[in-house]
Amino acid sequence: MGKLTGRTALVTGGSRGIGRAIAQRLGSEGALVGVHYASNEAAAKETVTAIEEAGGRAFAIRAELGVPGDADALWAAFDAHADGVDVLVNNAGVAGPGRIHEVTEADYDRVFAVNAKAPFFIVQKGLDRLRDGGRIVNVSSGVTKVAFPDMTSYAASKGAVEVLTLTLAQTLGARGITVNAVSPGTIETDIHPWMAIPEAKARAAAFSVFDRVGQPGDVADVVAFLASDDARWVTGQNIDVSGGSGLGI
Ligand code: NAP
Repeated sequence: MGKLTGRTALVTGGSRGIGRAIAQRLGSEGALVGVHYASNEAAAKETVTAIEEAGGRAFAIRAELGVPGDADALWAAFDAHADGVDVLVNNAGVAGPGRIHEVTEADYDRVFAVNAKAPFFIVQKGLDRLRDGGRIVNVSSGVTKVAFPDMTSYAASKGAVEVLTLTLAQTLGARGITVNAVSPGTIETDIHPWMAIPEAKARAAAFSVFDRVGQPGDVADVVAFLASDDARWVTGQNIDVSGGSGLGI
């Protein structure tokens, strides 16, 4: 028996990177996992297969986020496979580089639509499906902790996610639902193509007190804790998962 046996989870952006690691970890704890993706069906299927080969249960669902009607489309796809959800992980996100004078209105709208607006309406439209005693985990970022002028709109979108986390924790407490965020530091995923350059990767590693970049599993283990009964008394929090990045600043 895993800690999530009998529960159902939905991980947005579960096809690759951090979301894949979260989906696999929740699956290994016994949850039936909805692995959401935007376009990379092959990657989503790989995640589902990995969960099944480890003895778990999972299904893939496609929905483009950041477009009108995205949350409705996501839940319609989900409903075809499962009846209600216990753990919702809002992980899907896009990077949005740019200093204040470089960000176009279209860039800004895109980053906010995927990173901030989509989680808002996924929760709103999922409230009737989310069972009492459930869990919401929002994936934010360490870029809200200290200034990252090169990621102005991205950082602001994650700031919105953190405030949403706090507000929802108050609203949903009466139903026994906890709402928390995790804020990863630099994690080695496709979102950082520059990590292929050893010098750049070494510079990123130096931010952490452990002198390495994070791996998706470093985040997934913390999300699995927040999703479990062990975290029943933790809500409205933003857990730093950055290997101590910036402790010395
Ligand atoms: P990633 O490897 O690029 O994976 C992104 C995932 O999100 C994929 O599953 C992708 O689906 C999905 N996705 C992207 N755009 C989407 C859209 N418009 N609609 C629906 N799904 C979409 O990213 P990651 O590094 O794992 O990041 C995951 C989350 O962690 C993001 O919220 C990111 O901001 C946050 N984060 C990452 C880091 C880091 O260093 N990596 C640090 C802090 C926070 P497809 O496979 O179909 O494309």
